[in-house]
Amino acid sequence: MARRPLIAGNWKMNGLRGDGLALASALVQRMKAETGPAFDMVVCPPFTLVAGVGAAVAGSGIALGGQDCHGAEKGAHTGDIGAAMLADLGCAFVIVGHSERRTDHAETDAQVKVKAEAALAAGLTPIVCIGETASQRDAGDTMEVVKGQLAGSLPEGASAANTVIAYEPVWAIGTGRTPTTGEVQEVHALIRGELAARLGGGEGGAGGLRILYGGSVKPANAGELMALPDIDGGLIGGASLNADDFWAIAECCQ
Ligand code: PEP
Repeated sequence: MARRPLIAGNWKMNGLRGDGLALASALVQRMKAETGPAFDMVVCPPFTLVAGVGAAVAGSGIALGGQDCHGAEKGAHTGDIGAAMLADLGCAFVIVGHSERRTDHAETDAQVKVKAEAALAAGLTPIVCIGETASQRDAGDTMEVVKGQLAGSLPEGASAANTVIAYEPVWAIGTGRTPTTGEVQEVHALIRGELAARLGGGEGGAGGLRILYGGSVKPANAGELMALPDIDGGLIGGASLNADDFWAIAECCQ
């Protein structure tokens, strides 16, 4: 089934206004020079840059996303950002359940699910992140961990049209280490099978739902990863801070 690849840039806590705008402009220039790209692209800047980067990418075909949202619509949650606030700034996507949020803020699957549901309610597409730690992989628990996280984090009402999953082995994020292509495909196939059991296997369910791989994707390894049958794009951290590298990764989807 044809699933249009999505290349998502997670800028994390990087960039002042000048950096963010320069990066966004460099990507917009490349997108303008492209005739009929074979991928969708979204950039997820830190909250301080969402409005400015949104203005820079508006009308370019590059979408805007947040890196997190609160599970509540609004209220007394000092320092947090609601999904509707992101939508109000032009976001179409929001990352939820990134392993750095799960670690730094002790986010549970149940909280991630609520955040993803808040995103859906605000008209955003959640990019729901799941993935095992190094010790879980070493213990042979990868499949069970990923299955459990998916079951616990997938929002009610998820469909191919409104939700994206990102498989990110925690030990591969920012480390330069990646699983073998066989290991990646094995986990993605498991995720698609689990989605099929829950949402059905057709275009509107598992057959059409995009599953991204994330974890030390670089121009040098993107080609073989993006060619795997159940990989529908990437969630890119470090390499998304360099326009040439991020673009080169996207072009592997051509
Ligand atoms: C990420 O932050 O989601 C990520 C995959 O980071 P990196 O590409 O740097 O490993």
